[in-house]
Amino acid sequence: MDKRTPWIFTLLLVTTVNSAPVLGEASFNVIASFSVIEDLVKRVAGDAVRINTIVPAGEDVHRWEVTPPNVLAVEEADIVFYNGYGLEPWMRHVKAMAGDTLTLTALAEDADYAPLAINTGHYKGDPNPHMWMAPEGAAAYIDIIAQTLAQHYPEKAADFKTRAADTREALAALDQQVKERLDGIPQTNRVLYTSEAGMAYFAHAYNFEYASIWGVNHETLGSAQAMETMNRRLTEQRPPALFYESTVPFIHMDALARSAELTLSGPLYVDTLSASDGAAYNYPAMLRHNAELLHKALGGAREE
Ligand SMILES: [Zn+2]
Repeated sequence: MDKRTPWIFTLLLVTTVNSAPVLGEASFNVIASFSVIEDLVKRVAGDAVRINTIVPAGEDVHRWEVTPPNVLAVEEADIVFYNGYGLEPWMRHVKAMAGDTLTLTALAEDADYAPLAINTGHYKGDPNPHMWMAPEGAAAYIDIIAQTLAQHYPEKAADFKTRAADTREALAALDQQVKERLDGIPQTNRVLYTSEAGMAYFAHAYNFEYASIWGVNHETLGSAQAMETMNRRLTEQRPPALFYESTVPFIHMDALARSAELTLSGPLYVDTLSASDGAAYNYPAMLRHNAELLHKALGGAREE
């Protein structure tokens, strides 16, 4: 018994330490569906909230499968921030396990920002989910994040409001910066051909002609018909470059580029941020990286 006492004592001590709040008074748990939403939620929440992200950076948000650690995180959460408009087909599992006390917030669906329709593929005509790819769309997410956090944690509402206002300002500055960089691309070269329709809001915001092989990454990728349609378009229009995204199979755009003898450039970041030491380590870096890539591939004017 003497030998067991220290053992039990240690166990109790470890249990006590582990159950203590790690972030001081912070005991709010929220979930972000993927890395871009995690970044936006962090900007509003600061250190007051613990954020658990379902789809890790680098993975495709469309084609994720919910893991046991995801399930445990959802069970502990107060709010799940997700994009909606079908971006996360796996959210049906999260919804099925959600109890009455879990708030599910679909940022794109609740945002005060006009959705664009998907213009090709199986989901043609549905709202295009990639609204965050325009800084004004991301700013509309910020408003919903701030409102939702304030409803749940009213004692922190003033902090959330201040942080949301600062973030909106930063996003407006980013928007201007990206616009100025892209203004260096001649109008005739402002054509953005990608695998998925994920850059639609970006193209709309910065005045690019836009086309993609398929609509969203969770449909059939690169059907014979879709490849033929794009091939015909490329042969007729011969854009200066084609682009692929970090989360899609490379083979479709690569085959089209080689067949039409066009330059292939990438990766664009859309459905995920990069790792923390990569080019798209946060939301502004992601947009700046994409703008830089387009500028280089589409014959942007050189730096004065
Ligand atoms: Zn996507």
